[in-house]
Amino acid sequence: MRIIVDQETCIGAASCVAIAAQTFGLNQEGKVFILNENLEKAIRNESGECIESVSTDMMDIRETLLEGARSCPVQAIRVFEDSGEEIIL
Ligand code: SF4
Repeated sequence: MRIIVDQETCIGAASCVAIAAQTFGLNQEGKVFILNENLEKAIRNESGECIESVSTDMMDIRETLLEGARSCPVQAIRVFEDSGEEIIL
């Protein structure tokens, strides 16, 4: 599973963090970032998007993760299958 969060769009509402606290956090600027105990740092691309791949051993939190992503009021979170197919939230 792959997650992309758009920190430019994020308004820091924190509903994703409240629902999926093992996956999402807020940085000091109040912008979402991806927590992943299996990877130590987030990769930020030129658009300011924070991209992480989440290892499949985290699949037990898949529904929680998806619920957190769905809760975002500004659709700042996108989730993809390992195949690259986007999961419609
Ligand atoms: S729910 Fe959306 S706006 Fe709120 S912190 Fe998460 S990504 Fe940002």
